[in-house]
Amino acid sequence: MQTTENRTERMDCSHFIDGSYVQSGNGKTFENTNPATEELLGNVAEGGTEEVDQAVRAARKALKGEWGNMPLKKRSNIIRKIGDLILERQDELARLESLDTGKPIWLSKSVDIDRAANNFYFFADYMTTVGTEAYQQDDIAIHYAVRKPVGVVGLINPWNLPLFLMTWKLAPALAAGNTAVMKPSEVTPITATILAQICKDAGVPDGVVNVVHGFGETGAALTSHDNVDAIAFTGETVTGSTIMKAAAPTLKKLSFELGGKNPNVIFADADMEDVIETTIRSSFINQGEVCLCGSRIYVERPVYDEFLERFTAKTKELVVGDPFDPNTNVGALVSEEHYNKVLSYLDIAKEENGTFLTGGKAAEGFDKGYFVEPTIITGLGKDSRCVREEIFGPVVTVIPFDTEEEVLEQVNDTHYGLSASVWTGNVKRATRFSGQIEAGIVWVNTWFLRDLRTPFGGMKHSGVGREGGAHSFDFYSELTNITLKM
Ligand code: NDP
Repeated sequence: MQTTENRTERMDCSHFIDGSYVQSGNGKTFENTNPATEELLGNVAEGGTEEVDQAVRAARKALKGEWGNMPLKKRSNIIRKIGDLILERQDELARLESLDTGKPIWLSKSVDIDRAANNFYFFADYMTTVGTEAYQQDDIAIHYAVRKPVGVVGLINPWNLPLFLMTWKLAPALAAGNTAVMKPSEVTPITATILAQICKDAGVPDGVVNVVHGFGETGAALTSHDNVDAIAFTGETVTGSTIMKAAAPTLKKLSFELGGKNPNVIFADADMEDVIETTIRSSFINQGEVCLCGSRIYVERPVYDEFLERFTAKTKELVVGDPFDPNTNVGALVSEEHYNKVLSYLDIAKEENGTFLTGGKAAEGFDKGYFVEPTIITGLGKDSRCVREEIFGPVVTVIPFDTEEEVLEQVNDTHYGLSASVWTGNVKRATRFSGQIEAGIVWVNTWFLRDLRTPFGGMKHSGVGREGGAHSFDFYSELTNITLKM
């Protein structure tokens, strides 16, 4: 495999507590590897209850300090500046994100880092416009609500969009005046480590933004901590359920963005050119490691053959390769553990008598790294594990359908409910069908088109609560209603 950039760079990661980088008290570290080369990227401080406690105490102290009393405009300017500094360091951050995750560098730059900066710009503006409610009760009283930060918030994130997802939580948390302890995934610790320094460089006072690295136990210490007021979590459904239990004794406010097994429904009257182009992205972008990927594809029978022929041909053109090669479409999966999980589903598909139109195996030509070929599977029934379970890799199943009723039943026959795409040229059907889908987000004739003001999140086992605009702001705020008797 050709290497187009220095990919042996080392990046050790320390915790960031009260404005400084620190190691764990017991000196424990773990290794972080590059999933495309299996080389060591660096050692990462392994935090435990002691480091979580230090970070929470720093965050609590900072809440009462300058940050808690900062004028709105000044806080908004600092948040905007974080966005500026992310863009100033865009090339560096994109390079590190690709080293850490295995994703193509063009994707890191144009999506992960660019949208990370945008999250700060959006909430820097939003916070200056947000209001509360007031009611006059005849000539008896005026009731009005005042908004306060929730307090110390724990932000726990997965590995697929490390910086982007962390900023999607940190930006509104800071905008609403909270202080934070971040727990990035152990698999992708690098960009959160840098984000903490960027916040400090932008003028965020010490203790407001903290990072503690570690495994699930580190996250667990945060979720059960007495002095943490809220947990915003993105990750697997099972982990969400564990966190809910851990947070119950201290009655924390919770926001969950969880797993998905999203349907992509293609009716015969859809614009097939558009369908193919977008479905290639919604199936395989970021190696299929996006919670919103449409991994269950349903195609109306009259265009089933045409769809398969064109979709298969385009998928075969995708280049699996070095994340630093600009021609690469699909990079490496994030870790050996995840690679083995995805490959195990390909074995399951074989046992279930699925037909592989492409892929079905590890990509050839790589001595090292976790590369899997983009895979299209047909011939599986609705009860197949590959159709029902979240694989979170470059693997899609395609199933034909005959009627709207039949496909709607299959679409909703899942405990997930994150997102869906519907393709049709018929406006009436688009309205009727999209309204009946049990998912938090439905795209009609598009995919991944986001406006940060809109509600984002899943129903059923795909989430609790919504993020985005007012929804994020409400989660990171508490309201006190004041009644003034006239
Ligand atoms: P996990 O749930 O395994 O991990 C997410 C984070 O939680 C990691 O930082 C992890 O630590 C931490 N964690 C693990 N156990 C605990 C615990 N008991 N208490 C507190 N924290 C804990 O998810 P993955 O990292 O595997 O990410 C993939 C998942 O994320 C997929 O299911 C995907 O659908 C979902 N996702 C959902 C999105 C959405 O918006 N709905 C967006 C993106 C991803 P560590 O891993 O370091 O041990």
